[in-house]
Amino acid sequence: MTKLARKTVRDLTPYQSARRLGGSGDIWLNANESPFANEYKLQCDRLNRYSACQPQELLQAYADYAKVPVEQVLTSRGADEGIELLIRTFCEPNTDSILYCPPTYGMYAISAETFDVTAKKVPLTEEWQLDLPAIRDNLDSVKLIFVCSPNNPTGNLINRRDIEALLDMTADQAIVVMDEAYIDFCPEASTVDLLERYPNLVILRTLSKAFALAGLRCGFTLANPDIIALMLKIIAPYPVPVPVSDIAVQALSPAGLAKTKFQVLDLNANRAYLQAGLSMLEGVTVYEGYGNYLLVQFPDAESLFSALWDQGIILRRSPVENCIRISVGNRDECEKTLAFIRKQLSQR
Ligand SMILES: *Cc1c(COP(=O)(O)O)cnc(C)c1O
Repeated sequence: MTKLARKTVRDLTPYQSARRLGGSGDIWLNANESPFANEYKLQCDRLNRYSACQPQELLQAYADYAKVPVEQVLTSRGADEGIELLIRTFCEPNTDSILYCPPTYGMYAISAETFDVTAKKVPLTEEWQLDLPAIRDNLDSVKLIFVCSPNNPTGNLINRRDIEALLDMTADQAIVVMDEAYIDFCPEASTVDLLERYPNLVILRTLSKAFALAGLRCGFTLANPDIIALMLKIIAPYPVPVPVSDIAVQALSPAGLAKTKFQVLDLNANRAYLQAGLSMLEGVTVYEGYGNYLLVQFPDAESLFSALWDQGIILRRSPVENCIRISVGNRDECEKTLAFIRKQLSQR
């Protein structure tokens, strides 16, 4: 049956999600998940009915949280589906391109390739900022430009002035998609206020990270109403299961938001603890991070990664030279990870 598949699909290398990579152990700091498993109420008396395509209560709750009009919100199965919808909405297969700036999130290129859309790479500068002149030189056929801030896996923020310059540069020509999957850890850095000024700005959000709901699959696209309307033309008829919407609304209630705020403070403190502890180790460079993870450079990342893996401490290898990405867990997980790394490096 393999030969019946599209050539694109046969040739595709799927995204190596942390889940797919496997591993066994009791400290999982490889998928930027939250260590907090919060409780929710499930109501099962309406499951005989289809869900609304865009549950109004959920849209309103997120709009209030993000401080945008409800007409500027679309909800989907995680931010990943938002990426896919944008590509399918704006890119003609075998003709148009997306542009992205590695090292960054892998799904932009994979989603594009899945739909026969070329993914153009313009690497970030040495400071992991946008290379605006190189982007300008590569705008031919580009419909979407993906910018991740805080950037995964490097952790840094993209300069706001560069984002505005990019939006000006691409006005009427391409859409700038700000991936703000980690923005709840540093809400002051959001570009949401720029939506009013820039019709070509789109923002991706998710409940998977700070809201501790990776297993729920609930994300949001914030954009001007004409973009939302276009995406709604191609979205699945029932993308948000009833229990997903119910739980997401609870997470976005005043009590849910307060809990998330508290957990974000907790995780940001743990990140500072990890950052300080790792920075003291010889030969180790910790890059300043604004999300719930840190990118760390070690003298021999490969062997350290394996030693941690064998110990049941599962982290994520990064494409950045000799770097490992460490998700910020609870304090106990951070302490154990730091202690093991310290011991490992002292034995070298
Ligand atoms: C985790 C992540 C996403 C995907 O979020 P989901 O809502 O779980 O699909 C998108 N972008 C970046 C940068 C991420 O790290």
